[in-house]
This record gives sequence, C-alpha cells and structure tokens, in this order.
Amino acid sequence: GELSSPELIQHEKLYSAHNYHPIPVVFARAQNAVVWDPEGRRYLDFLSAYSAVNQGHCHQKILDALWEQAQRLTLSSRAFHNDKFPTFARLLTHTFGYDMMLPMNTGAEGVETALKLAKKWGYMKKGIPKNKALIVSCCGCFHGRTLAAVSMSCDNEATRGFWPLLGGNIKVDFGDTDALEIIFKEHGDNIAGFIFEPIQGEAGVIIPPEGYLSNVRELCSKYNVLMIADEIQTGMARTGRLLAVEWENVRPDVVILGKALGAGVIPVSAVLSDKEVMLCIGPGEHGSTFGGNSLASAVGIAALEITLEEHLPERANELGQLFKTALQKMHVHHPHVIKEVRGRGLLNAVELHPVRSSQVSAYDFCLALKERGVLAKPTHSTIIRLSPPLTISGEQLEEGVEAFSDVLEQD
Ligand code: PLP
Repeated sequence: GELSSPELIQHEKLYSAHNYHPIPVVFARAQNAVVWDPEGRRYLDFLSAYSAVNQGHCHQKILDALWEQAQRLTLSSRAFHNDKFPTFARLLTHTFGYDMMLPMNTGAEGVETALKLAKKWGYMKKGIPKNKALIVSCCGCFHGRTLAAVSMSCDNEATRGFWPLLGGNIKVDFGDTDALEIIFKEHGDNIAGFIFEPIQGEAGVIIPPEGYLSNVRELCSKYNVLMIADEIQTGMARTGRLLAVEWENVRPDVVILGKALGAGVIPVSAVLSDKEVMLCIGPGEHGSTFGGNSLASAVGIAALEITLEEHLPERANELGQLFKTALQKMHVHHPHVIKEVRGRGLLNAVELHPVRSSQVSAYDFCLALKERGVLAKPTHSTIIRLSPPLTISGEQLEEGVEAFSDVLEQD
C-alpha cells in the first residue's frame, strides 16, 4: 500500500504541526530540475527547496560522495578528529578566501554562531564594556527561526507569541546607509556586528540600491563593526556570483553559508572568518554534535566541487539574464497583473499588484502554475519567488516561462 498524494497530505496535516502552508503537491522522486509526485505527474522545480538544491536534485556526484562516505564513517563528533572534515575546511576556506571556518548544520545555527562570534570578538578585541555588545540587523531580514534569529525580525508573524525576545538588537532599514551611520555614530563603541542579506530573500528578493554593499563595508571598517553577510540563500552561485557580495567586490568580515552547501542532501552550514575573529571562540565555548561530521563534510566537498566544475556562477548569471528578459516581456504584456519583476542570477521574483476582486493572490497564482507543471512558492501575499536549480536546462527554463505566461493569459 503506497499512499496517494491526497492521503499523504491528509496524514501530514493530522500528525505534524501546522507550521507551513504548502502548495498541495507531494514530491516522491526528483532528478535535477524535475520532480515527480506519487502518481507520476511531472513538475519543474522553481523553488529549489528555498535555494538548497542549487546543484539540482539527486546529483550523481553528491550521491556517490554520500554513499561512499556512509559506508565508511558518518559521525565521529568533534570529541575526536575524522578524516574528512579537515579536507572540507581547507577547500571551503580556500574557495572563499578566509582563514578559517566553523561548521554547523542548519542556516539558523550558522547565524547563531556568527552572532556569538561577533559578540565574543567585540569583548575580546574591540573592547566593548562587559555585557554591552549590540548587533545591528535590517528591517525585513530573514535569518531563520531560532529565538536569536527571530529577535532580529520585524515580521509580526515571526515574533508574535514568542516574547520575550533577545535584547541587544538595533534595527535599521535595509538599503539605507545614512540611517546605518547614524546608529554607528550613536552606539558604535558597543556595536559588535552588522548582519544583513546581500539580497533579502524571504522578504521578496529585495535588491538594495547600487553601492549599498560597498558603503556598508566602508562604514563597518570606519566604526570597527564586523560586517556579517548572511549568504545562506544568496551564496553558492545563486545570484550569478559565488557570493552575492561579489557584485560589489566587497569582502565581509564574516560570511554565513548553508542550504546549497549541503546540495539539498544533508544540512551543512558554516561560518567563515579570519583568525583574528575566529580564534575568539575557544574550546568548550561553542559547538554542535553533528557540525563537521564526516558525511556532511563529504557532501560539502562534492557540493563545492560541482559548483566550481559546472561553473554554476556563470550559468546562473547567463540563464538569469535570459529568464529576466522573458519575465520582463510578460510584465510589459500584463502590466495590470504584474507590478514588478526583479532579481539577480537565478534568484528572481515577480511581484503582483495587491489583490483586487478580479485578481489572484500569489498563492492562487502558484496553484495555477502547479496545474501547468511548475512549482513555485509565494512569499508574502503578492510575491512569487522563482529560483530553479542552477543546473536547469535552457529548455526547461523556457518551459517555466511558458507556463507562467499561460497562467497570465488565463486571468
Ligand atoms: N538566512 C537566510 C538568508 C535564509 O534564507 C534562511 C532560510 O531560508 C536562513 C537563514 C535559515 O536557514 P535554515 O532554515 O536552514 O535554518
């Protein structure tokens, strides 16, 4: 007895928490950008598990690395050494040009790590008075669902019912360097770090004004504040560069990676920084049972190698340009439905006009897209994020565009 899609959806609703509002489609099998449900219906994946499967579903090289490693050793814990983690650490730091890395599992844990690291550095190196360290974050940010991460959020849905939140946070408008400097001027001596997404993903693919990243770099240097880039969604080639900060040739002090670092196969996250910062955390002060495990390290190595060998940054850039041109054409033809098209590389969004009675919400639009064989997920009520695997073919990308166009024509 294999269960059907409706049965599976019903069981999930009965037996698991209702903390998501999924599009009603069940993934049973997937290969690269294609997904099949239990009934054998075929779909194109235009979400990539929130940019975690940049390398495509079930990439053979990842599966080989996973299987090969799983037969030998999966977990030593860091009470001991294992023979895979050092290789992963070396490859990761060399690839991104930092002295050191600290391995964790999920994105939110990477964020927690970066915040703790910044505070520790603030006390040890910057000389912030005892217990006075502050973190500055951006309105509209999304850094995960742990208490520290939601404490930085301005989204009521993320925080309501979860107070008291963590103190010591200051919020600033994303993209506003004047406001950032005012905060740095006023509280600079106590600010350990400024954390931001180079492009805000969950907020709806919000791209800051040109020059923002380099201005942030300048301000952080001027006020001796750690510049912490959360590249969990934007990194690993998603925006057409290995890191999205490369669009402005900026080098943050701390970079957080996750999602596609594990190629959508197992959770792998990491914080990158230089010795001066990283060595502020000593033995016994931070860690994770699974962080740096040999299975994750083997997958992480393969995930990085694919990204480089298959030239995913260049691919995302080129396919992204084609995709955006096609989306912009739709915008021109349907200005009454589409408000704006934006994005970089293969991280794109179509924002619909706010719903009027004759129009559909982003969720309804995604349901209609699903009927046409394309899977996307709305963020907020009017924004459809479109972020296929970076390994998607040009034809599949076009197929997605056609489906989108058909749904627009239906309206
Ligand atoms: N930071 C950013 C920018 C994200 O997009 C996400 C996930 O969507 C996270 C952090 C949290 O990652 P995770 O869900 O793996 O904890």
